[in-house]
Formats: sequence, structure tokens, C-alpha cells
Amino acid sequence: MTTIPTTTLPDGSSMPVFGLGTWGMGERRAEAEAEVVALRAGLDLGIGLIDTAEMYGSGGAERVVGQAIAGRRDEAYLVSKVLPSNAGHRQTIRACEESLKRLGTDRLDLYLLHWRSSTPLEETIAAFEQLQQAGKILRWGVSNFDVDDIEEVEAISANCQANQVLYNLTRRGIEYDLIGHCRAQSMPIMAYSPIEQGALTESRVLEVVARNHPRATPAQIALAFVLGKPGIVAIPKSSRPERIRENLGALAIRLSDDDRASLDAAFPPPRRKQSLEMI
Ligand code: NDP
Repeated sequence: MTTIPTTTLPDGSSMPVFGLGTWGMGERRAEAEAEVVALRAGLDLGIGLIDTAEMYGSGGAERVVGQAIAGRRDEAYLVSKVLPSNAGHRQTIRACEESLKRLGTDRLDLYLLHWRSSTPLEETIAAFEQLQQAGKILRWGVSNFDVDDIEEVEAISANCQANQVLYNLTRRGIEYDLIGHCRAQSMPIMAYSPIEQGALTESRVLEVVARNHPRATPAQIALAFVLGKPGIVAIPKSSRPERIRENLGALAIRLSDDDRASLDAAFPPPRRKQSLEMI
């Protein structure tokens, strides 16, 4: 069992820097059992952080997670998300309660607004604060928020605990400003699609860099790049236990200056502001 390093949130609590994504799970009944097995294998390896959302599989992913954590709730750090279409005050409360039911738990460790809509942020935040007071969520945050969006949140409340955004070697725009902005607030960035939905496992450059590290793989190098920055949490998804173990191995890889130079040459860092990308 691996002890996963943690990062500190604005509220002083800790969040593991490595977790499991679940997008694509709970969509096909025939695959649900294997997905539960994979998430349980993750728990066995010490990976408690599980990222899900009411959107994934229209609730199916949360049901899969619920089965995986049954009897093991205390080992898990559960993150779920409310859809923008449910971001109104009453809808957010109801959506959270539905998520809790599907997950078979009485609380979420972190609840995020999946992305912004026209619903005023004040409404969603008021619902989050109410859910937090009721103990149904322990803390809240946002997802797909660029610097100007986060500044709006900060003007309403100082309680936002995390921002989950697209970040990997091929999507480095946030290095220009968002990472620094969030770091200044001690707010972790949860990097989603950290291996570009699997595409980075095919990268020739990553293969070459991987050769500098014993038995390392391109997926591990992609993850080591993200994990090498303070305050960044990676949540790769896999429904295969052997890949979950492989991905976890990235935590042991320290990229050298030469490795970083090779990566920068192939995947240049941003030189100017780029709008936040979303998948
Ligand atoms: P990832 O970058 O995590 O890639 C997942 C894909 O890569 C899957 O197809 C998986 O297939 C494959 N894969 C995983 N590990 C390996 C490996 N070692 N070798 C080869 N292939 C591998 O993409 P996601 O988009 O899933 O992002 C991760 C998580 O982030 C999501 O699952 C979700 O929880 C969250 N997310 C949040 C968003 C938001 O808007 N907040 C948007 C997108 C994602 P297999 O399962 O078959 O192994």
C-alpha cells in the first residue's frame, strides 16, 4: 500500500495529490463489475481520492463508485460535481442529495460546480454553504474556472477549496497565470485528463524520456510532469487495475532538468495568456 502525498487546501485540510477519474464509468452494465473491481484495486493500493460527477453515465459512475466504496467509506476522499443546469439554489441541494444516495454515503469530501453557466454564482455558493453547514459536503470548489471566474468567486466567498481544470503536457495554457493565481490562494488545481484521454501514451517524445527512468512508461512521464508541480493533483482514469498501478508509479519518478528540457521542446509552455481549454 502506497502512502500518497497530500497538498494543503485553504481550509487547512489535506487532499491526496493522486486520485482516480471515473468519466466513462457506469455507462455500460456489462462493464460495471470490472469498473468496481478497478476502483477497489485502487483503494487497496491506497488511492482514496475518487473523482466523479452526476453527469458521468447520468449517475451511473456515482453508482459504480458507491459499490466500490461500500463498507470502505473512510478510506475514500470523494469528489463529485453538480451540473450547471442544476446550479440554482434548490436544484444544487437536490442534486447533491441524489449524488449522496447513488454513492451510498452521507457526505462528500469535496463538491464542485462542474462548469459555469448563466446561474449567478451567489446562488450556487449559497447552496454549497448550506450543504456544508448540514455536513452533506465537507468543502466545495469549482471546475473549469479561469482566472477571471475564480476572482469572481473570491469576491463572493473565501471558502472555495479547489479548481479542477484540463491540464497536461499538450494543454499547458494554465501555466501562464491560473496556476500561479491558485497557488497564491493555496488552492489546489486538480488536473483532469492528465494523459490527454490516453493520447499521451502514444507519444514518441514521452517514450524517449521514459528510457531515462527504469521501467518507466509514457503514461508515467505524462503524470510525473503534472505531479512535479506543487499544488497540482492528478486524477487519471483507468478501468484496468494494472494501469492504475502503473499510473500510481508516476509518484516515484522525478524528472531531471534534461527531461524537462526535452518535454518543453516538444510541448512548449505558454508565452501569453490563453483562454482556459475544456474537454
Ligand atoms: P485521462 O487523461 O485520465 O485518460 C483516460 C484514458 O486513458 C482512458 O481511456 C484510459 O483507458 C486510458 N488510460 C489510462 N491509463 C492508461 C495507461 N497507463 N496506459 C494507456 N492508457 C491509459 O482522461 P479523462 O478525461 O478520463 O480525465 C481523468 C478524469 O478527470 C475523468 O475520468 C474525470 O473524473 C475528470 N474529468 C473532469 C472534467 C471536468 O470538466 N471537471 C472533464 C474531463 C475529465 P482505460 O480505462 O481503458 O484504461
